[in-house]
Amino acid sequence: MSQHGTTSTTIADPFRFAADGRRIDGEVAVAKLDRLAGSLADSVGVLHFSIEGSLDEEGRPRLSLGVGGSLVLRCQRCLGGLDWPVEIGVSLRPVREGEGIPDEELEDDEVDALEVGADLDVVGLVEEEVLLALPIAPRHDDCQPPRPDGGAEKESPFAKLAALRGGDKA
Ligand SMILES: [Zn+2]
Repeated sequence: MSQHGTTSTTIADPFRFAADGRRIDGEVAVAKLDRLAGSLADSVGVLHFSIEGSLDEEGRPRLSLGVGGSLVLRCQRCLGGLDWPVEIGVSLRPVREGEGIPDEELEDDEVDALEVGADLDVVGLVEEEVLLALPIAPRHDDCQPPRPDGGAEKESPFAKLAALRGGDKA
């Protein structure tokens, strides 16, 4: 069984994948992540991901997912683009669909249970984890909402632009 050549983004058997200690590295265009579109000011770029299977000390399957790259979110204050670095690292424990999540999983903060069917769509999982990690109200650290009063201490970039435009006429 060879995975060379193409980027496989579906894991046929996540439990086997974990038991075999396999790993997939890949990337996905941000523009393909439909569920993120509403949060983005621009859908440029790609996200890189890796998923690695292992067994924990008790022989339970574990999937370690890493996602990196950057997204251009929409600043909630000025509505401009806001670069947001994506640095996600999560440990997931696959459980079979319909089996339910064991109680102890609910108390384990380090490993999230992940219900999976016959196969696992890795890109869908990447999208899901990015959605969970998104800030609720992204804002630039240093941007200011338009202020009706004061704020005259700093020269506004628009005033500068107007001055340049005025200069062009001369
Ligand atoms: Zn802003």
